[in-house]
Amino acid sequence: MFKSGYIAILGAPNVGKSTLLNALLGAKLSIVCDKPQTTRQKFLGIVHHKEGQLLFLDTPGLHQAHKRLNQLMVDAAKSAIEEADLIYYMVDPKAPTQADFGFIQEIEAKNKNYFLLINKIDKTDKLDLLPFVDAWRKKCKAKEIFLISALGSDGIQEILNQSPQYLPEGPAYFPEDQITNRDMRYLASEIIREKLFHLTSDEIPYSLAVVIEEYKEETKINRIAATIFVEKESQKPIVVGRGGAVLKKVGQAAREELEKLCDKKVFLSLFVKVVKDWTKKESVLKELGY
Ligand code: GDP
Ligand code: MG
Repeated sequence: MFKSGYIAILGAPNVGKSTLLNALLGAKLSIVCDKPQTTRQKFLGIVHHKEGQLLFLDTPGLHQAHKRLNQLMVDAAKSAIEEADLIYYMVDPKAPTQADFGFIQEIEAKNKNYFLLINKIDKTDKLDLLPFVDAWRKKCKAKEIFLISALGSDGIQEILNQSPQYLPEGPAYFPEDQITNRDMRYLASEIIREKLFHLTSDEIPYSLAVVIEEYKEETKINRIAATIFVEKESQKPIVVGRGGAVLKKVGQAAREELEKLCDKKVFLSLFVKVVKDWTKKESVLKELGY
């Protein structure tokens, strides 16, 4: 009996959801970053297992929302609970928080099967882990509890092997060589965004959006033009840098990664545009695809 269904990876910002998705897929598709809240949109990664096809929704971190954008991110995470056939709830190796219990209750109230993944065990002493595992075991109805290191790909195969049994019977929706349903435009914007996160200061990342204006595939080269939206005039010089130095570094790093991904030369042009307070405006958020 072949299975296929949706799996949502949920948990607080920075617990390692994107890293896990990449480990599951065996390829770098979702952006990984030290700064929380970098995964804004749901993302579908496909894992082909001999017993089933696992369709992964990557979700923004579950957290208290302030601005409108953050609220949309939390809504996206919560709607993933509805859509999912199985949930991986990810936590740091520490005692369960009140917020964790809130979300666990929400998952249990919807009668969803879930695994608890205690991540980053490479950073923690085995003996120190035991009380946390006990505390979780008493408090939650997870089908399985896994101790993993997403970064070290430790424990990943076990999770995959236990997953198909919780998915509905169904066909393989995607061919075996396909690992995402997102197109190159989306991946290109994510790569540019990731480079911006790494190369700009702390206050900038949450005010950024990247929109691909042009994506042209020619025989020898791909031409890509992207606009980076910031929400304040004062943020523009930070993204551009002195004499354009920051933007140049972002462009170069993104181009190199895109060339690897497309296996082709890439010509990348980047523009920066200020749209006042876009993270607070519903109409702009819609236009940018949130
Ligand atoms: P997300 O916000 O939940 O998607 O978290 P990310 O996947 O972006 O990871 C946040 C940070 O935690 C990054 O710096 C990762 O390298 C790091 N990280 C993720 N998994 C592990 C792990 O298993 N061990 C260690 N030591 N670090 C990890
Ligand atoms: Mg993430």
